[in-house]
Amino acid sequence: MERSLLVKELENCLGKDKVISDPVDLMYYSYDSSFLARLNRFIPDVVVTPRSTEEVSAVMQIAYANDIPVTPRGAGTGETCGSVAIKGGLVMDLSPWDTIEEIDVANMQVFVRPGVIHAKLNERLAEYGLFFPPDPGSSIMCTIGGMVANNASGLRAVKYGCTEQYVLGLEVVLPNGEVIVTGGIQSRSIKNVSGLNLTKLFVGSEGILGVITKIRLRVWPKPKGRGIVMAVYPSLDDAPASVLEVYQAGILPSGIEILDQSAINAVNMYRPEINLPQGEAILLFEVDGNPSSVEWEGLKIKEIASRRASQVEWATEPKRMADLWEGRSVVATAAARVRPDGSRVFAGEDISVPLAKVAEALRSIRSLGQKHGVKVVNYGHIGDGNVHTAPVIDPEKPDEVEKANRLVDEIHRLAVTLGGSTTGEHGVGAVRAMYAELEHGPAVKVMQAIKKALDPKGIMNPGKVFLPEGE
Ligand SMILES: Cc1cc2nc3c(=O)[nH]c(=O)nc-3n(C[C@H](O)[C@H](O)[C@H](O)COP(=O)(O)OP(=O)(O)OC[C@H]3O[C@@H](n4cnc5c(N)ncnc54)[C@H](O)[C@@H]3O)c2cc1C
Repeated sequence: MERSLLVKELENCLGKDKVISDPVDLMYYSYDSSFLARLNRFIPDVVVTPRSTEEVSAVMQIAYANDIPVTPRGAGTGETCGSVAIKGGLVMDLSPWDTIEEIDVANMQVFVRPGVIHAKLNERLAEYGLFFPPDPGSSIMCTIGGMVANNASGLRAVKYGCTEQYVLGLEVVLPNGEVIVTGGIQSRSIKNVSGLNLTKLFVGSEGILGVITKIRLRVWPKPKGRGIVMAVYPSLDDAPASVLEVYQAGILPSGIEILDQSAINAVNMYRPEINLPQGEAILLFEVDGNPSSVEWEGLKIKEIASRRASQVEWATEPKRMADLWEGRSVVATAAARVRPDGSRVFAGEDISVPLAKVAEALRSIRSLGQKHGVKVVNYGHIGDGNVHTAPVIDPEKPDEVEKANRLVDEIHRLAVTLGGSTTGEHGVGAVRAMYAELEHGPAVKVMQAIKKALDPKGIMNPGKVFLPEGE
């Protein structure tokens, strides 16, 4: 179908105010936060901003009838080119559709449309003493629709898990425009084991199976107390050993973060006044809950960490907690400072490895950085093995881009070799689709068969999650 005809048909269907076709406006939709999008421009043919299930369905029917690729998009904060139309076609921007439809306090759940921003939802829930626990670093920007599609999580996943644990049901518009509700059409129950678990299928499906138009989320009581232990380790291997000892003492912290030596140096270069103590690793244990259990757990962690760490501090006073946490807060920005002309690129940035392999992974990444001549800063969620690696290069120099790409390829392969995953948080998108076979083996064929059953024409977010059969 010719582009001008498509634009006309979409305008007739949605009204002109919900169709974007001006080339300058389309540029805004040509990127997300990924390195791939920084190096390329993927400009869609047209963008639509539907605000009802009927409108989403009508657009899908037009796309389906005319074989037009559709890429759903939330806030575009993804790191993998997931919300970018790499094969052209139509981008469906769900971010303006940001209604919190109902907070059902009596049943501890909330119904939202896909464009609701994570932080705004938690602001509203706080009025009832509740919260939606997954906590991505992009909280003030990312949408709940994008979080569900990417199964997002954050540094508190060690205790609270990922988005999937909270999704009770979804309304989804399928590629042919049909609408389904997963988790029971009338259901407000929290437990439900009836039927195949289609909710789990759509969570983390990265827009390749359908458009998520409504989300039923479980919410939790918001803890009242919080405390932080900071521990400095002369030897990297002692850090994961301490983590295990804390677990074996019967304590599950709400966050356990690591800064390795590269991250400690980056923070101290960026903000010398933070003055992080020197060591091969710093761990930050966060505990939350009711104030008396927080106190008990914090002191116990302090005692355990002191067996291996050279310096340990426990704090519950807000100002002191903020000071202890400050190095962790700034590390993502600080990474770029390890080179005066450097820029941090988001590639290979969130591998996940078994807990027992975290120290090995960090050491191997350091060696790979030296091998390829690229500075890398490492930090992350040691409590669940999710490591953030930050390569720092001059992206204007093609040879440095080439080196970074080779490094990142080896980091992804290292994760699989160590028994981990190419992504613990940000998803596959376009940038990791080529590793699907390596990571999942014959299971990829089953994924492709499910995709074909729901999307026989292959119009939903093509080029993402796994390569098409035969490529
Ligand atoms: C500074 C920063 C920090 C970050 N920290 C974290 C973190 O701690 N943890 C983490 O997990 N991620 C993190 N991210 C990555 C990103 O923010 C998350 O993956 C987030 O969930 C994406 O939400 P979004 O609304 O921006 O979605 P987008 O980037 O717009 O889309 C992401 C994917 O979801 C699909 N999608 C979006 N909406 C829908 C829908 N309604 N129906 C179907 N498919 C849809 C898109 O097609 C795409 O594949 C971070 C990103 C940045 C820039």
